[in-house]
Amino acid sequence: MYPGLLHAHWIDEAEAKGFTLIDRVWDRLHVLLECKACGSQDVVRVSVLMGFQPICHACKTDRWHDTAEAAGLEYLRRDAHDRHYGIFRAPCGHELRRQFGLIERMAQGETGFRCAICQAGTEAAEAERRCWQLLGPDHEGDPNYRLYRHSCGHEQRVARVNMQTGRFQCGKCGPAWPAAPNNLYALRFVLGDGTTVVKLGHSNDPESRLHHQLRLRDDLPADLLKTVPMASGSAALRIEKRLHATLRRRFPWAVLPAERFRGVIKVTTEVYDGRLEPIVLAALDAIEARARRRPCPRG
Ligand SMILES: [Zn+2]
Ligand SMILES: [Zn+2]
Ligand SMILES: [Zn+2]
Repeated sequence: MYPGLLHAHWIDEAEAKGFTLIDRVWDRLHVLLECKACGSQDVVRVSVLMGFQPICHACKTDRWHDTAEAAGLEYLRRDAHDRHYGIFRAPCGHELRRQFGLIERMAQGETGFRCAICQAGTEAAEAERRCWQLLGPDHEGDPNYRLYRHSCGHEQRVARVNMQTGRFQCGKCGPAWPAAPNNLYALRFVLGDGTTVVKLGHSNDPESRLHHQLRLRDDLPADLLKTVPMASGSAALRIEKRLHATLRRRFPWAVLPAERFRGVIKVTTEVYDGRLEPIVLAALDAIEARARRRPCPRG
């Protein structure tokens, strides 16, 4: 407490601005105010009381809690170094440092948010599935590219979309198609007479194979049923051939003659009666489970 008069015009000014003047504190320049809304107390300079609207920090914090909640976040605390920033908890559980102004815009629905930590985790997992490690941003500054390291030790910049689809190869251990990633796939086609058939094959891009290479008639339904990533084209070809041999031997009745699907699909063999679909899918499931257990190549 600081001795001295409590001037009547200070008391009036505090009242008018939503506070009760409690006493003088520290020195001749400061007073203690109590917020009439929430009862908490703050020390302010007399000059602030007389010339401006004093701020109740407790009420302000409450407002931040509300704003953060409207933005889908939890307000944790102010940033210790910059008064424009706060620390918030995202729905994923990560703590984010964000500008208060941005949180206000999020609360208004003007902008969304992306958790950089979760995003990095997603991209790291995408890479890991293909035996690559995410190292960081592209050193050439292209936002669509990242820097990765293959399990053989080779480092390479790769477009993220290519990492997702596998449409690229390692510059060190994957020099040509036989070594480049590939896929087994199962497609379902419906023929003009309503018969459902299933096609099994391999491709480095089954989706585009379905839409741009195989289909002759867009009016008949066609679906990509399943894709199994393979480490290389040669592995995909070898496994596909073995699977066809097994299917022909065990289900000779299901092998469709070419005249049945001529004009619908641009292939001459490897098309089966639709009743074989569950068997083909189960075989691909088994291959996928085996491929997942196989260790990554080492350099
Ligand atoms: Zn208050
Ligand atoms: Zn997160
Ligand atoms: Zn490699």
